[in-house]
Amino acid sequence: MKTSPTRIAIIGAGPAGFFTAEALLKGDDRVAVDMINNLPAPYGLVRDGVAPDHQAIKSVARVYRKILARDEVRFFGNVTLGEDVTLEDLRSRYDQIVYAVGAQSDRRLGIPGEDLSGSHAAMRFVGWYNAHPHFRTEAFNLDCEDVVVVGNGNVAIDVARILVLRPDRLATTDIADHALAALRNSRVRRVTLLGRRGPAQASFTNPELREFGRLDGVCAEVDAAELALDDASAAEIEDNAVRKRNMNTLRGYAESKAGDGDRVVRFRFLVSPIEVVGSDGKVCGVRVERNRLVAQDDGYQRAEGTGAVETLPCGMLIRSVGYRGAPVPGVPFDERAGIVPNEGGRVVARAGGTEVVRGEYVVGWAKRGPSGVIGTNKADAAATVALMAEDRGAGIFAGSERDTEDDLARLLERGGVRWVDNEGWARLDARETALGEAQGRPRVKFCTVSAMLEAAEVHGSGD
Ligand code: NAP
Repeated sequence: MKTSPTRIAIIGAGPAGFFTAEALLKGDDRVAVDMINNLPAPYGLVRDGVAPDHQAIKSVARVYRKILARDEVRFFGNVTLGEDVTLEDLRSRYDQIVYAVGAQSDRRLGIPGEDLSGSHAAMRFVGWYNAHPHFRTEAFNLDCEDVVVVGNGNVAIDVARILVLRPDRLATTDIADHALAALRNSRVRRVTLLGRRGPAQASFTNPELREFGRLDGVCAEVDAAELALDDASAAEIEDNAVRKRNMNTLRGYAESKAGDGDRVVRFRFLVSPIEVVGSDGKVCGVRVERNRLVAQDDGYQRAEGTGAVETLPCGMLIRSVGYRGAPVPGVPFDERAGIVPNEGGRVVARAGGTEVVRGEYVVGWAKRGPSGVIGTNKADAAATVALMAEDRGAGIFAGSERDTEDDLARLLERGGVRWVDNEGWARLDARETALGEAQGRPRVKFCTVSAMLEAAEVHGSGD
């Protein structure tokens, strides 16, 4: 009979990782959970993705803080799988391994001019304004009046809102100081969002869309002609409360030009970018083609070009057409879907296959793709954790012969890796919130790894 707790490594300390730890701790089995995170600070997209003016969404961090306070949970921040530890290191130390690595890359448009200066992935802009250390030095052209954002999801909405919000509104948030300074000097006045399909197919949610109607100094615009629905689209929204509400909100914007101010967010539908236009190597516009919707056999309404083309002038283009998973060294990866191939959360050796990788699991965006809100990860994690319990009951554990004596902390110490533990994160967190308090902000984020390590009082080789 097993007397020691099951040793579980969770790779990634974002929402999916924390909801997994929470579900594991609620189970009947004794567990010891190590959360391994490549950045020094935990919370993933709650820290680096959720927009700074949406602090209410970030309040879920309170739940995560309680999880980190549990004796059974150790945090290993600033530790990267594939660089600081290998998969074999983990397989020989843990009974079960959970990949909660999110979707660390972005999707491309595949059109000419996409790589011109001034054309960016939303992921980089979001990382920049949220003080993600990897995107701190990105440069965005805010010395222009028009910006085009491609995509009709909540990330596109976030990007558009941050670009038009009055800087004073952002100054009370935990936005990166470098982004606040740049946005204070911004000349951007019009942001146009491009939906390749119609308003009935837009994937943003209604509170996010409605918010534009009540932002100080911001006017939301849409052309009523682009809100006309064909029969299939009208039928599509009939059973979808969110999309019905979106239509009502957009009709309101079309009728009344909700809000007033010198900053405009304009919604365009049924248009696809076909070329990013440049001058002297810099973005100066985007050519878009008008689309019509063509119903597929499965009911999906696909956008098809009509040949009618127009050019929208802009000084910056941000593509916000979805995130994409990136492979983790040694972990199976489904190139087409951009996820870790799995059966309900059990990792399988290859996409479409049934050969399970013993003792290895996946949760969150790495499991199902980049969809859903933060809370979606809770049920998703619980489903994977149920399978993990089932496998423990059946005596199925991770591959290698386990060396229970050689703890991860000892391995990292030997390798000279500087990691942030639970106490280190508590120190970093306290420093950031104290700096924020002095300025009437929730926190002031450190935005380099070295500053984060210093605030966490992590010393060691490399200092
Ligand atoms: P998303 O919701 O999947 O939206 C992606 C958008 O890109 C869709 O409108 C899609 O249109 C469009 N698109 C894809 N390929 C395109 C192309 N080649 N040309 C033009 N448009 C293209 O993704 P997301 O906005 O990145 O958000 C990811 C997840 O995070 C979502 O579940 C979102 O709700 C969530 N999130 C939530 C919040 C919040 O709750 N406040 C904030 C941020 C993100 P089609 O429909 O035609 O494919």
